[in-house]
Amino acid sequence: MRYAEVAVDAPVAHSRTFSYSIPSLLSLEPGQLVWVPFGRRVAQGVVVELASAPQVEVTRDILQPVEPSPLVATVGLELARWLSDYYLCSLYDAIALFLPPGFEAQVRSRLTAVPGNEDLLPSLKAQSRAAVENLAGRRALGEQEFVKLLGRGGEREVHRLVDKGLVRRQVDLPRPRIVPRYSCYLLPIGARDPGGAWPEPPDRFPNRQLGLLRAVRSQPGPFPMSLGNKEFGQGVADALVRKGLLAMEWLRDETSAASNAPEHGIAPSFTLTPEQAGAVSRIIEVVDDPSAKPRSFLLHGVTGSGKTEVYIQAIQHVVELGQQAIFLVPEISLTPQTLERLTSRFPGRVAIIHSRLTPRQRFDQWWRIREGGYDVVVGPRSALFAPLPSLGLVVIDEEHEWTYKQEEAQPLYHARSVALELSRLTGAVVLLGSATPDVETYHRSERGGHRLLELPSRVPAPDSRTAPMLAQVEICDMRQELREGNRSIFSRRLAQALRDCVKAGRQAILFLNRRGSAPIVQCRDCGFVASCPRCSVSMTYHGAPAERLFCHRCNRRSRLPRHCRQCGSERIRQLGIGTQRVVDEVAALIPGVSVERWDADATRSGVSSGEIMRRLQSGETQVLVGTQLVAKGLDVPNVTLVGVILADVGLYLPDFRSGERSFGLLCQVAGRAGRGAERGQVVIQTYSPDNLSILAAADQDYAAMYRQELQGRQQLGNPPFNELVHLVYHDVNDNFCQRQATAMARQLRQRVYAQGLTDVDIVGPAPGIPSRLRGRFRWHLVVRGRDLHRFLENLSFPRGCTVDVDPAHVM
Ligand code: ADP
Ligand code: ZN
Ligand code: ZN
Repeated sequence: MRYAEVAVDAPVAHSRTFSYSIPSLLSLEPGQLVWVPFGRRVAQGVVVELASAPQVEVTRDILQPVEPSPLVATVGLELARWLSDYYLCSLYDAIALFLPPGFEAQVRSRLTAVPGNEDLLPSLKAQSRAAVENLAGRRALGEQEFVKLLGRGGEREVHRLVDKGLVRRQVDLPRPRIVPRYSCYLLPIGARDPGGAWPEPPDRFPNRQLGLLRAVRSQPGPFPMSLGNKEFGQGVADALVRKGLLAMEWLRDETSAASNAPEHGIAPSFTLTPEQAGAVSRIIEVVDDPSAKPRSFLLHGVTGSGKTEVYIQAIQHVVELGQQAIFLVPEISLTPQTLERLTSRFPGRVAIIHSRLTPRQRFDQWWRIREGGYDVVVGPRSALFAPLPSLGLVVIDEEHEWTYKQEEAQPLYHARSVALELSRLTGAVVLLGSATPDVETYHRSERGGHRLLELPSRVPAPDSRTAPMLAQVEICDMRQELREGNRSIFSRRLAQALRDCVKAGRQAILFLNRRGSAPIVQCRDCGFVASCPRCSVSMTYHGAPAERLFCHRCNRRSRLPRHCRQCGSERIRQLGIGTQRVVDEVAALIPGVSVERWDADATRSGVSSGEIMRRLQSGETQVLVGTQLVAKGLDVPNVTLVGVILADVGLYLPDFRSGERSFGLLCQVAGRAGRGAERGQVVIQTYSPDNLSILAAADQDYAAMYRQELQGRQQLGNPPFNELVHLVYHDVNDNFCQRQATAMARQLRQRVYAQGLTDVDIVGPAPGIPSRLRGRFRWHLVVRGRDLHRFLENLSFPRGCTVDVDPAHVM
């Protein structure tokens, strides 16, 4: 086995590996991170396989391992292989998900001038000559800086200069940015008497040695050597080690990322309802029977039905078997109550992965997870890749949330699909939970792909025998309000309910899925709309204190124009509403009320989500206004009123899931009202009171939404009846971008024709929405059909084309 197949960190076709020879002095294993020569550069790669023969005739040597032992386990390599095949991304990108934090090292290459070849200089272009002369006057330059000096086409020019022998490239192989730190500890050794006591040291034992010996023996865990040196002096420990009374051991340091929860788990003071108990026992049955198929559950239960308790008991069972669980949440900072319940039940045994950990803490956490130091790993979608030694259960809470799909960087994976594959590889049980499951998940469970568990009613409050009722929901037709002369953003119904609520000492939540004061700023005379110069979207006006226009896509900001850029008119008006405007209107409606805003702007300006939640919990905030953030984890008994300012926002997006999403969001918001003893009230304002998603949400009728969605999707051939692959082309040149997308569409249609397929459709190309983003034009097309992986086999996609399998959005 002198050859290795390596997944290299380079933009290469999915699943592709490269053959390297292993130098005779090195011994390598699959899963090890290595440095390899790649083209003209050095790249990081992961050994995926050892082989006795290479794929190609000529191979180059692996340069050196980054770490002495494998970082990715066999299961990780297998799952990465699947990710790469399924999401059509490079194998390295897939494997990188499994690497410990801090291993994304960049190779730096430096260039130095080679003296003695100056006679070649006159043959060079002026700019190259100047650059080489500049370099000769220095010790070295980073490759990037040198390329800049060379100007256009600099990257190629560097290679020419190297080939001509005018400059030399040197590569620095960086160490991983974070390496484990080790410290020396002292441990007592020797035989204890039957009572567990240590033998007394002989008389006339040096005092300081006696002191240290006692200190080490009385410490329950390892005793830091540094502490011994400080308290008892240098050399004292050595003397005790020589006498055979103490041993030294090097242990990896950890910065503590664990919680400082109490020692013992706090059991809940209630017994499970029969529905909960039934769900738990069905899960346990499957955990205990490795041959049971399918190994996934959908736990469908209304908000407050006690799903979290079911998760916890299932985890408990797995932990008792000596296995571990992963618990995924849509967003860590929005689920403090769930986290608290977990950590109090598994004190000190829960690793919480969140973005506020320092790199050092993440790194230590990763290693400790790998050593079995935690029973439960809680986190966002990336927690799926935690290196747990013996995974027994994966819980995905609020499984319908689209934060489970990665959209910013390859691989564009969905945590649910990955969890199911992980389950296939390891036998771990997957538990998906939601009050409003994704239509595709529910459909799959109806067809036997998941075992379905239903919790149809809320858990009764402690002091009552009946379950709290779901809130009472009214729909307010805003067209009617307008007809009757009400131009306020509040219907008369909502305005009255708000006043009553505040007067009664209760609290309210107002929801609007749009930030800012006004989403459109328009000239009254010529109709010109202020839009972002880099994105094809209108700029949103944000009032005090910013008083600026913002692009919500790229965050560009500019001043509110005094004059129209097109006709010079001063008659500029603001149209539409955002959360900030709602705050202003609430303050005007109820003088003296304490109203707070919770959206991305608020958290970006430094107010923490925890602080906002605390102020609502304590009653300091009487009215909370916000975007989706307010729809998620809030559970405040004193909130009795929820107002949806405009349910239409997001409803008519050209995306086949917009109805389902609106339904889920509205149900979630409505679920914030009446979590206490008092029945909640919800007012939904809309210009489309007949819209079926809104009507279904008002009735909290999942089944109605599901039937209607399924019918629509069957008619249009959308998931779950077909698979989708979304291809998005980006380029600064609109024409070029369109041509590329058109060429791809033509090629795909030819494929359909050549293979005689009747169940694959190519939709587009069409301009994306938005058609321009951060200065790049977008053209997209959708491949729709069955068995798309076979259909797309061996197709290569150019750079500038993003391939998104099972896209979250098709715009
Ligand atoms: P969900 O996750 O479905 O929204 P939770 O698990 O948060 O529901 O439960 C809602 C509330 O009911 C919580 O305050 C929880 O402590 C409580 N609860 C859950 N199960 C029971 C039970 N069997 N008896 C009494 N209270 C319960
Ligand atoms: Zn104008
Ligand atoms: Zn922009």
